[in-house]
Amino acid sequence: MQITCWGVRGSIPAPDPKNTRYGGNTSCLSIEAEDRIVIIDAGTGIRSLGHELLGTEKEIYIVLTHVHSDHVEGFPFFKPLYEEDRTIHLLDHHYEGTTWSLLERFDGFHFPLEPSQIPATIHRVESDGVAYLNDEGFDLTRRVVNHPGGAYGYRLSLEGRSVVHIPDNEIDPPGNAAAPFEELQSFCSGADVLVHDAQYVLEDMPEKSGWGHSVLRDVCRLAQEAEVGHLAFFHHDPERSDEALDAMQEDARKRLETHGIECTAAYEGLTL
Ligand SMILES: [Zn+2]
Ligand SMILES: [Zn+2]
Repeated sequence: MQITCWGVRGSIPAPDPKNTRYGGNTSCLSIEAEDRIVIIDAGTGIRSLGHELLGTEKEIYIVLTHVHSDHVEGFPFFKPLYEEDRTIHLLDHHYEGTTWSLLERFDGFHFPLEPSQIPATIHRVESDGVAYLNDEGFDLTRRVVNHPGGAYGYRLSLEGRSVVHIPDNEIDPPGNAAAPFEELQSFCSGADVLVHDAQYVLEDMPEKSGWGHSVLRDVCRLAQEAEVGHLAFFHHDPERSDEALDAMQEDARKRLETHGIECTAAYEGLTL
């Protein structure tokens, strides 16, 4: 399988001359195998992924970790929506009794079009998305993580390889954790690739405690205890410059190299 990061920024797009190497687009990651592609989140990074998919015959599935704006705002600009001979499997987001669809971005008010004006065929999946993808042959699991308003992490396995994607999660939140460390560790256990939120560094605390994002040091500990093969840290703070991310990567690599774990600060276009 091939994993690609299309948007690695958290919270809000951050186009800035200081950010050009890692990129300013928000959360979007794809996992591709043969003729199918699963897209996790539709932040502004999904726009460039859309360009790559134009004219291809890939079967497209879109799932969400949660519905914060940085994970959904790119959707109307996903060009395959405007291809007439295209079918897109769009999975509703269910969380604690509420349901939300990316089609709600097309309300004719926040965006000029309505769902009936989308040229592609939208196969909207209103039932549980994980069960649907399992039926489609994807070995996918999901769990609740620590994030205000609630969010999921996903784990996908294929032919003995596995990737875990948790774009928004506070490993060590104040108060009761929806996902205690031991549970996160077992969810990530032995993954070949872990793509995980590391929006903060120690200096951001305690001010950002409870905001729903992890400190890099805690993410390194999770990668180490779960014995993953490669950590790609993700959901960079919009204020974090390329140079600051280089320094975070250096720090994480020092922590992880003695454990034989590779580490990369995720950037737009990173493919694993
Ligand atoms: Zn986010
Ligand atoms: Zn969020």
